[in-house]
Amino acid sequence: MDFELTAEQQMLKDLCRDFARKEIAPYADEWFDAEYFPTEIFHQLADLQLMGLLIPEEYGGTGAGTMAMVAALEELGKVDQSIATTLQAHLTIGSLPFLHFGTEEQKHKWLTPLARGERLGAFGLTEPQAGSDAANIQTTSRLEGDSWVVNGTKCFISNAGTPLSYGLVALTADSAGGNGKRAYRAIIIPKDTPGYTVGQPYKKIGWHTVDTREQVFENVRVPRENLLGEDGSGFRAFLKTLECGRISVATLGLSLAEACLNMSLRYAQERKTFGKPLASHQAIQFKLADMATQVDMARLMVYRAAGLRDQGRPYAKEAAMAKLASSEIAVKAAEEAVQIHGGYGYTRDFPVSRFYLDSKILTIGEGTSEVQRMVIARQLGC
Ligand SMILES: Cc1cc2nc3c(=O)[nH]c(=O)nc-3n(C[C@H](O)[C@H](O)[C@H](O)COP(=O)(O)OP(=O)(O)OC[C@H]3O[C@@H](n4cnc5c(N)ncnc54)[C@H](O)[C@@H]3O)c2cc1C
Repeated sequence: MDFELTAEQQMLKDLCRDFARKEIAPYADEWFDAEYFPTEIFHQLADLQLMGLLIPEEYGGTGAGTMAMVAALEELGKVDQSIATTLQAHLTIGSLPFLHFGTEEQKHKWLTPLARGERLGAFGLTEPQAGSDAANIQTTSRLEGDSWVVNGTKCFISNAGTPLSYGLVALTADSAGGNGKRAYRAIIIPKDTPGYTVGQPYKKIGWHTVDTREQVFENVRVPRENLLGEDGSGFRAFLKTLECGRISVATLGLSLAEACLNMSLRYAQERKTFGKPLASHQAIQFKLADMATQVDMARLMVYRAAGLRDQGRPYAKEAAMAKLASSEIAVKAAEEAVQIHGGYGYTRDFPVSRFYLDSKILTIGEGTSEVQRMVIARQLGC
C-alpha cells in the first residue's frame, strides 16, 4: 500500500503546518489555561476550506478525502490537540451522519453549512448510564402528529455549546427499556428548540479548549423531517459513523506522540547533566529511539486505515487497530516526554505538560481501548 501523499495532500499538510505555527502555537497555552474556545480560529479554518474535507463539493466541502484529513490533523495536532480535536469531531462524527444517511434536502439544509464551516457538527451518543454500552441509551423519541418529542440526557457531548454550534444529532430510541429490540433513531435537534438545554462545560484534565457539555431534552419537539436515515436504523448509523471517527482520533494520538518526540529531542540536545547533553546518555537515547519507533508504527497504521477508506475498501478493523495503538502510544510518549524534561516538564511553563494532560482522553473518547479490542475481536470472528 502506498503511503506517499499526493502533491495536493502535501500542499494541504504544509498549509496546516504554517497556519498552526503562526496562528495557533503562540496562543495554545494561553487558551488552554483560560479554557477559552477560539471561535476565530474556526472562521480561519473555514476560509482555508478545511471544514469540509470529507464532504463532496456539491454539499459545500472540498472532497479532499481521508488521507488529506489525516495529513491536516497531524499538523494541527502537533501544535494544539484541542483545536485538532474540535476539527476532527466536526469533520467525522459531526458531519458524516448527514452525508451517509441524510436525504438530499437534509444534506443541503444541514450538511452544507457544516462543510462550509459556518456551523460546527456534534454527535450525541453518550448518556450517563451508556457509554461503552451504547445500546443502553435511555433518551426516547415518539411521534406526536408531525413532530418527534424527545426526552433524555446526553453527557460529554463535544462541539454542541459553542457560538458556531447548530445543535446536534442525537441517538434516541422508541422506549427507554434496556438493551432489547428497540427502534433506534438519529434525530437532528437544533439549538434554541424549546426544552433543549445545553449544560455548563465540564472541568476536564486536558482538552481544555474543546467544548464538552451535558445536553438535556425535556419534551423537545422537532419536525418529523428531522429524522436522519430510516426509522430504526439509528444505532447502526451511529456505529458506522464511529468507524471513520476512529481514524481521526488515531491521528490525534499520532500527532501527540510526534509532538512529544520532537520536544523531547530538542530538550535532550540542549539540557546538560553530568557535563554532557541528555541526548548523550544512552538511557535517554533509548527512550527517544522507542518513541520514534512507536510514532512510525502509529503513522503507518493511521495512514493505512485512511488509505483503505479512500479506496472504498473495508477499514473497520484497521481503524480500530490504529485508534487502539496510536492512543496508547500517545499516552506512553507523553509520559516519557515529561520524564525527559524532568521537573520542568511538570510545570505549565513547558508545553510538554499540556500534551501530557491531553493524552489520557485518547484511550477513552470515541470508544475506550477495551471497546477497540472488542471491535477488533469481533472482526476476527470471535
Ligand atoms: C472529553 C470528552 C469528550 C467526549 N465527546 C463525546 C461526544 O462528542 N459525543 C459522544 O457521544 N460521547 C463523547 N464522549 C464520551 C466518550 O465516548 C465515553 O466517555 C466513552 O465511550 C466511555 O464511556 P463511559 O465514559 O460511559 O465509560 P464506561 O462505558 O462506563 O466504561 C468504564 C470503563 O469500563 C470499561 N468497560 C466497559 N464495559 C466493558 C466490558 N464489557 N469489558 C471490559 N471493559 C469494559 C471501559 O473500557 C472503561 O475503561 C466524550 C468523553 C469525553 C471525556
